[in-house]
Amino acid sequence: MRIAVVGAGVVGTSVAWELTARGHRVVLIDRAPEVAQETSYANGAQLHAGHAAPWNPPGVLFDALRWLGRSDSPLRIHPGRVLRAPSWSLRFLANATSRRYRNHARANARLAEYGVRSTRHWREELGLQFEGRDSGILKLFDDPRTLEHGQREAEAVRELGIEHRLLTRDEAIEREPALAAGADQLAGAIEFPGDGCGDALLFTQELARRATEHGAALQLGTTVRRVLGGHAGADGLETDHGTVEADQIVLAAGSYAPALARPLGIRLPIEPIKGYSVTLSLDGIEGAPNTPIIDDARKVVVTRLGNRLRIAGKAEICGFDTALDERRWRAVREQGLSRFPGLAEQLADAPSEPWAGLRPMSCDGPPILGPTGVPRLHLACGVGHLGWTFAAGSARLVADQLEGRTCDIDPAPYRFDRFR
Ligand SMILES: Cc1cc2nc3c(=O)[nH]c(=O)nc-3n(C[C@H](O)[C@H](O)[C@H](O)COP(=O)(O)OP(=O)(O)OC[C@H]3O[C@@H](n4cnc5c(N)ncnc54)[C@H](O)[C@@H]3O)c2cc1C
Repeated sequence: MRIAVVGAGVVGTSVAWELTARGHRVVLIDRAPEVAQETSYANGAQLHAGHAAPWNPPGVLFDALRWLGRSDSPLRIHPGRVLRAPSWSLRFLANATSRRYRNHARANARLAEYGVRSTRHWREELGLQFEGRDSGILKLFDDPRTLEHGQREAEAVRELGIEHRLLTRDEAIEREPALAAGADQLAGAIEFPGDGCGDALLFTQELARRATEHGAALQLGTTVRRVLGGHAGADGLETDHGTVEADQIVLAAGSYAPALARPLGIRLPIEPIKGYSVTLSLDGIEGAPNTPIIDDARKVVVTRLGNRLRIAGKAEICGFDTALDERRWRAVREQGLSRFPGLAEQLADAPSEPWAGLRPMSCDGPPILGPTGVPRLHLACGVGHLGWTFAAGSARLVADQLEGRTCDIDPAPYRFDRFR
């Protein structure tokens, strides 16, 4: 089959690779001159099945109100945007019940575990070089009550094959000696030994290269204006470089997928949630953590990628704005380094590479993968805060459904028809 994939982020490129490997004629289209230039460019770099819960637990509204107006708050909401897109916000809150949150956390964990496994499989099979490590991940807690809550959440997904280990402060320091200097506030940690990390940009570049070597066409610098066809089926794509004909189309356009789907009557409940990262060189620097860290108290992640340190965090509902607010990215940097005082001192005057990206967040939590109801049009979007972790697993689920095969995991929790 001729298949057009729209969007060469980590998700679209994974879909393109999977379909190419299965013998299809694939064209992967992106408006940017290179792959992974948007949200997949400089994310937190963590492959984490152990931390896959959605961002709308019961009480999320209370948290949002508590954080309102605080300059260092992990969440910032621009009221104008919420008023322009009220339906997503209301549905996001409506999904914050105990039962729905539990179900969505489970669905995410299952896909995340499948995604991490599939990423490793590709890494071994194709020899992909993306600074990928089976490092495990440490989640740190300063408050014994949140630690207890974190453990309950980890326990709830253990039967999906996601292992965890509760660590005292001393055990956490033994596991990651870089924590020793700033450990006075630490209540404990949870280790997820099956998790890992790697650079999503390098991964996407490597995978795109493999796909083209195996016959896929990469059409960069090409903006898709609309999907051709109607309710009877999608027929191709209209781009600023002419028409692309295809037997099947996969939309993997991140936060921009809703705009492409809407003219066909498909209303995707996806909202861009802005986040920041800062990358620092570790050349000549000592004492950086080797194990990727999720800092629950500071709401940041800290990941070592070779001789670079990536710190990421913040969530802003502000529409499609990717401007770099210096106060916000500096706060991410400071919060990430404050756990490692010796490192912070060495890096005090080091140049930072700040970046901002938009997480394509579904209103309930799990991504939106598979058929649309419009014949020949498929979705690989809404991957939110976990798109790097989900990418390889999502690609397999999308490809299996497109080919009418049985999927390795139940695709129902990720299908668009769950919103009907
Ligand atoms: C600060 C931050 C930290 C994160 N940390 C992690 C993490 O540690 N682990 C994790 O698993 N995930 C993480 N994420 C989430 C992850 O980065 C995203 O979920 C993922 O990158 C989304 O990939 P995507 O391919 O769906 O979207 P994108 O990477 O945004 O790709 C979409 C592509 O579609 C293209 N496009 C859009 N519209 C058109 C059009 N009309 N025509 C042509 N092309 C088009 C764009 O150019 C873009 O290249 C983080 C995100 C942020 C912001």
